[in-house]
Parts: sequence; C-alpha cells; structure tokens
Amino acid sequence: MLSTRLSEAETAVLHDTYRHLHRTPELSMQEHRTAEFIERRLDELGIEHFRCGGTGVVGILRNGDGPIVAFRADTDGLPIAEDTGAEYASTATGTLPDGTVVPVMHGCGHDTHVAAALGAVAAIVGQPEAWSGTIIWLFQPGEETAAGAAAMVADGLWDRVPRPEVVLGQHVIPFVPAGSAGIAVGDAMAMADSLRVTVFGRQSHGSQPQDSIDPIVIGAHMVTRLQTIVSRELPPQSPAVVTCGTFHAGLKENIIPDRAEFTLNIRTLSEETRGRVLAAVTRIVKAEADAAGAPRPSIEELYRFPLLHNDPGHSARVGAALRAELGEDGVMTIPPAMGSEDFGWLAQAIGVPNVYWVFGAYSPEADPDAKPRAMNHSPFFLPEIEPTLGTGVRAAIAAIGAYVAV
Ligand SMILES: [Zn+2]
Ligand SMILES: [Zn+2]
Repeated sequence: MLSTRLSEAETAVLHDTYRHLHRTPELSMQEHRTAEFIERRLDELGIEHFRCGGTGVVGILRNGDGPIVAFRADTDGLPIAEDTGAEYASTATGTLPDGTVVPVMHGCGHDTHVAAALGAVAAIVGQPEAWSGTIIWLFQPGEETAAGAAAMVADGLWDRVPRPEVVLGQHVIPFVPAGSAGIAVGDAMAMADSLRVTVFGRQSHGSQPQDSIDPIVIGAHMVTRLQTIVSRELPPQSPAVVTCGTFHAGLKENIIPDRAEFTLNIRTLSEETRGRVLAAVTRIVKAEADAAGAPRPSIEELYRFPLLHNDPGHSARVGAALRAELGEDGVMTIPPAMGSEDFGWLAQAIGVPNVYWVFGAYSPEADPDAKPRAMNHSPFFLPEIEPTLGTGVRAAIAAIGAYVAV
C-alpha cells in the first residue's frame, strides 16, 4: 500500500516548490527555467530523465517488474498581469511570438500541477517496498497553446520510454471544493478549434461609401449570423460553442478600411458536430462576403485541441482509488466540460486509454452571499495552498497506486 502522507519536511518542500514556481512562470513553449528546476529536483531524487519537445521533461522511475503508467503535469503560465496581492505573486515577463513583452502569471494553476507531481515523486521514491513497476513522469510544456503534447509526441516521446497501459493527469479547478476531486466518465473535455477570419473590402473616404466595400459591416453580419449555427442549425442535444473573441478593423472613424479580422473559438463534443459547425462557418463567411460583393475572405486555422475522453473502465478504477483516499463525499462525478486540453494527444498517439480528473482550489465559503472566487485564467486566481496542494499530491499517488501499489 503506497502511503500518501507527507512528512512535515516534505510538506515544507512542497510549499516552497509551489511558491517558487508561482513567482517564476514562463509562457508556453518557453519554460526553460521551469524545465531546469524540474531536472534539478529529479536529479536530487536520483531519477533518470531526458528533455523532450523542447522544454518538456520526462522522468522515468523504475522499481522492478510490474505495471507501467504515465502521469502528466503541464508546466506553462499565461500572459496575464497577476493581481492577487499574494506575497509570492509573479512579477515575471515573457515575450510573445510576435515580439510583444507581456506580464506572465500561473493563471491556470499549472504550478500546482508541477509541485504536486514533484511531491508525489518524492513520496513514492521514499517507499520502494510499497510498489513495483515503472512510472513515467511527463512534465509537459505548452498546454495553453495546444503545442506541448504534440511537440513531445513528435520528439519521439513514446519511442524513448516503456509503453504505459494508461496516461493519468489532473487539473486544479475552482468549481470543486478544495480537498475534493471530480472525475468525468467518458467524454471529459471538448474539442476546440480556433480560426482567424480575414474579411477583404475596398478602402475609401468615410464620406464616400459608394466607393467602398465595407469590411466592418460585412464582418459584423458574419459574427451575428455565426450565432445562428448553435441556435438554429444544431440539435439542442448536441452541445457546441461558437465564440468570436476578437474583432479588429480600421484606424480612424472617417476611413472605411480595406479589411477586418476576427477570431473564432469553437467547442464541440463529437466529430460529427465539429464537422457541421466548421462547414457552417465556412458557408456563412463566404456567403456574407458574396452578399456584399466582397472578395473571397480567408479562414485560417490557428490551433486545435482534441477531445478528452476518459476511458470508462480506467475512470472507474481511478475514481475508486480517489474515493478511498478522499472519502466518498470527496469525489464527485462531473459532466463533460466545454473547456479543452491537449492531454488527449499523449495517449491517443499510442492508442492507450487516459484518465483525467480535477481537484479543488478553494474551501467552501462560510458566507453564502460571498462573491464567487476567481476562475482559472483570471488575474485574481489564487488557489489556497492547503488543502489544495496536499490534495493534488494525495490524488496523484492514489491514482498511480491504483496500478502499481503492492
Ligand atoms: Zn488554462
Ligand atoms: Zn490549465
């Protein structure tokens, strides 16, 4: 039986690790210092490791014959100016691919994932008699841009480690109380497609619309009509989201510009629905341009995330282990989320199942009228250090233990 209890000294290291990571976040695929930090900790624990996918780190912990499992922790921060007021708040900056220097924050809580994984590694290393097998620790960069899992796979991840029977992963999330976990059986998180649409018009003086093809009016019609895909074209039983998150055009009120540009974020839970939504986007964008006599607009794919599907049998196994650890009331079954993750690429690449669960960030509010606390990606997102981190470690050890404990 693998113990999930941390000593006082191990807990102190866990908290220091978390505060250090929280102070020093890095942007997606630029996690150089974070990777070096993880490598140092794995060296201290005597665990073999290698770089994979640029700033990804893979640790291999072997302890005789037995099951092989992989556990993934994502490592990247976000371009957000932290406003939590925490003593360990980030003051880091980073450079976006377009050269813009931005503040960086662990606004999605991936620092809790890395700290909890390193805490679990240390705890498991200390009790070799309690388990046997091989644990592959995947410290994955670039989750927020859907680049990291694909980069690790493309860098030969699965040729360099023994093939696991399951890939496990977890995420800190405010909608589950701190100290608790949540797990979805079957579909867990949506597919996501991000697109950039460029509308081409004809520039003219603002006083002479007859000489123009106005891309702002055309783009506005496109955005409005795209709202009818979910409301008018899909069956109500097929969840989907079509969000227009940016719209940029023009420099001055008395110039009709020659182009407008907007971006779309699309979430779906099945390939069939995804295909219908993408086809409808193409049809509407082209037709609105045609209706205005405008040149053919361009639609460019920015990135996509896979469906995250929790294998039912393995979810039941991990769910039982989490319940044994956190109590029957400490683990809830949750519906699929319309958020997205690139975690699914890792297991899909070798055709093995994966299981992904969430753990809480905030204790239940004593005051029922208190304002809801900040979600992931907010500048105010700040998980309680405990019981959040301790729960992350316990959940990781319990889930891994469901396979390797003796
Ligand atoms: Zn995120
Ligand atoms: Zn995240």
